[in-house]
Amino acid sequence: PADLLDADFYSFQHLLTDAEQRALAEIRAFLDADVRPHADDLWERAESPRHLIPRIAELGLYANGFAETRRFENSAVFRGWVAMELSRADPSLATFIGVHSGLAMTSIAVGGSDEQKAEWLPPLAAGESVAAFGLTEPGHGSDTARGLETTAERRGDHWVLNGAKRWIGNGAFADLVVIWARDLADQQVKGFLVRTPAAGFTATKIERKQSLRGVENADIVLENVVVAEGDRLQRIDGFRDLAVVLRLTRADVAWQGLGVGVGAYEAALAYAKARTQFGKPIASFQLVQEKLAVALSNITASIALSVRVSQMQDEGLQADHHSAMAKAFVSARMRETVALCREICGGNGIQLGGQSQVGIPAGYGVARYFADAEAVFTFEGTYDMNSLIVGRAITGHSAFV
Ligand code: FAD
Repeated sequence: PADLLDADFYSFQHLLTDAEQRALAEIRAFLDADVRPHADDLWERAESPRHLIPRIAELGLYANGFAETRRFENSAVFRGWVAMELSRADPSLATFIGVHSGLAMTSIAVGGSDEQKAEWLPPLAAGESVAAFGLTEPGHGSDTARGLETTAERRGDHWVLNGAKRWIGNGAFADLVVIWARDLADQQVKGFLVRTPAAGFTATKIERKQSLRGVENADIVLENVVVAEGDRLQRIDGFRDLAVVLRLTRADVAWQGLGVGVGAYEAALAYAKARTQFGKPIASFQLVQEKLAVALSNITASIALSVRVSQMQDEGLQADHHSAMAKAFVSARMRETVALCREICGGNGIQLGGQSQVGIPAGYGVARYFADAEAVFTFEGTYDMNSLIVGRAITGHSAFV
């Protein structure tokens, strides 16, 4: 098809079914019309595109991953490709959707009872409520499995939560926050569906971020927040069950990192063709071509790894270390790619797009991808932690527990 992505150098997109390709074309049209033109402005204002929620829901972007809500039979490769396309247009939008659908809805799909799934998945898929996922704490990021301090105390038919969470995406305005807390009785990590507003629950938007500014993260404080036993995720008995959620979402974040690289590459390629120095397009210089070749090679290798890790998900073969390798490798290649692409854009590479400069067409902004790459490199397990998960699988020794 004519709209196949140029950056898909080895035509991996042919793996998608006709129905998946049609759905992707519809999503691309939405991104081109409603997202790209406004992404830099939203980023600058540090606002999430909440006005897009009805259209996001209509396109099935929240629903596709769940048997209960999906519009059509689709593969993990298709859903990964969608995450890539979202991120290619706007990494903040990809995160906004990834937190709601990837992290929060997957927590309910993996850890909820049939009743909890029936109550929550359809309205969340329809965008009637916004969801968030609260795991990270002020004192615990990489070591949440052993260090989690937020507590849950059972009192009859309800629980009382106390503690603090940090960096919670969508947390500033979410109607539902999945809070992970340690049961004071058995010391196991459990998941709780906190409906907001709730007495004792406060969420404060984190200001002055310089990466993924279009995601509204929050610091959350829980002071004797009461949650019914019916709102405890019934199939979560410890961190091991939460790790199943992270295994699935980490593979999606690999695709998201890929999209960041593709967005930067496309901006740099367009810029290289348009920008003239020494009387020639900079695209004709060998050193610029080498950078573009490295960027496209990074993207190509990252697509291959992302495709395979998603195929393994559908085949029931995906293990924690497979997702970890994909996330670590792709995010490292992404970081190199955005740096090369920013370099190709020279001084104009540090400015958001949208403003015309002398002799340069408007809209080549590569700076947003450059900045956004840093958060993607760090969340859903830092590069280091994901590498150590792979290292544990290789050697049989855990370097972090
Ligand atoms: P730390 O764990 O303090 O790590 C600091 C550094 O030390 C890193 O380089 C790390 O790799 C290194 N390090 C730590 N331990 C080891 C070790 N054993 N060996 C080697 N190196 C080590 N969390 C949520 O729960 N929900 C969300 O929605 C969410 N959204 C986010 C959105 C954004 C934009 C960001 C930036 C973060 C988000 N997070 C969210 C939090 C994110 O998951 C954490 O930032 C991440 O897990 C890293 O934790 P930390 O920032 O506390 O870093």
